[in-house]
Amino acid sequence: MAELEAATGLCDRAEEKLTPGRRRVLELLLRAGRPAKAYDLIAQFGEDGRPTKPPTVYRALDFLERQGLAHRIESLNAYVACRQGDKAHTAAFLICRCCQTSRELDTGGPTELLAAGERLGFSLDGLIIEGYGLCADCRAD
Ligand SMILES: [Zn+2]
Ligand SMILES: [Zn+2]
Repeated sequence: MAELEAATGLCDRAEEKLTPGRRRVLELLLRAGRPAKAYDLIAQFGEDGRPTKPPTVYRALDFLERQGLAHRIESLNAYVACRQGDKAHTAAFLICRCCQTSRELDTGGPTELLAAGERLGFSLDGLIIEGYGLCADCRAD
């Protein structure tokens, strides 16, 4: 999978290791194609269909988030792989209420919010926007 190769390169540059467990969790997120719950990742973790121990998955998710390879969608309590590479970015999602798919938008983020934080001397290093509605497929039904 090209995304896994890219992730490996990204971790190398950051002098971090994409261990087999971290890589496996990222692979599952990429395959899911929609927000995945931690317990689903735990259940699917083993190549042989056997679950793993929860801390393995939670630690891997934590790592992937820190490297910008995954995001947590708070309102769904679920995770998605990020395909936007290694640049720090504001994550903005369009989440379909009907089929629960999510799509990440490449936006500059709400500049007003960032500027407001700046004025207060607040250095914002994470911002996730979760927008809800119906995707094109579900609207067509
Ligand atoms: Zn992202
Ligand atoms: Zn939909």
